[in-house]
Amino acid sequence: MGLADGIRRHGGTFARSFLAISACLARLSARVFFTMANQNVAEIGDLKQWLGSMRGLLEENHFHVENLLITEAGPVLAASRFVDPAWPLVYLSSGIHGDEPAGPLAIESLLRHLDLDGFNWLICPLLNPLGLHRGIRENPQGIDLNRDYRRQQSREARAHAAWLERQLVPDLFVSLHEDWEAQGFYFYEIALEEDRPERARRILDSVAAVWPIEQEECIDDHQVRERGWIFHEPQADFPDEWPEAIFMAERRCPLSFTFETPSRAAPLEKRIAAHQAAIAAALLEWQAERL
Ligand SMILES: [Zn+2]
Repeated sequence: MGLADGIRRHGGTFARSFLAISACLARLSARVFFTMANQNVAEIGDLKQWLGSMRGLLEENHFHVENLLITEAGPVLAASRFVDPAWPLVYLSSGIHGDEPAGPLAIESLLRHLDLDGFNWLICPLLNPLGLHRGIRENPQGIDLNRDYRRQQSREARAHAAWLERQLVPDLFVSLHEDWEAQGFYFYEIALEEDRPERARRILDSVAAVWPIEQEECIDDHQVRERGWIFHEPQADFPDEWPEAIFMAERRCPLSFTFETPSRAAPLEKRIAAHQAAIAAALLEWQAERL
């Protein structure tokens, strides 16, 4: 059963089933989950172990896994899985900000529990392991990696950008982030193709079953188009400070979603579940539009 079939079969209960998955995840990754949830840091040993288990999990799922960089906190992993050229290519990225642990754990849970068929995949589960170890947004040199894809001053962004340039341009880019100021879930969209407000609403409806949607009309200096939805132009807010999503837009990736969960307002398991619900809804939308 493919992922999209699974989503359809579960129907409205899908988001709720993610809560059960997250409970399971908490047992599977107990140590790293506990320290991230309570202290917002991960011990080096636990983090290395977790990255080792992620590599194993990716390989079990028939991904080709590369180390983009070796850091004191473990490797920066990049994984690809091409099964059928007729399937769309989805690129999933997370952990570029070290104080945002829900994304990497959501990817772990996705790999453990969902059949990935129906899509080809690129996955970078944790782009800033040293930041996660310290519980900081930036890398240890103080560089915000998600503003560094034009200048590429950090070795992390350099290695990652070079890897992305070796890959096919994905059909869909999904990046998982967190926002310590937000109360609810929201997301950015960059679309080089036709805009689809209905799609945005359905993604938000799926997440709302897990956690409320952000109600602010201005989020991080961006006016929402509708509650929870920032429709962003494919240019950076500051010309020399490219986030990864702008780098992908420059590579002509036609559609990108940056999902944001509230890192202080919601418990970790809810944030993981919200990311998973959003990912599932985005994939389902992508497929439904092309049937
Ligand atoms: Zn972030």
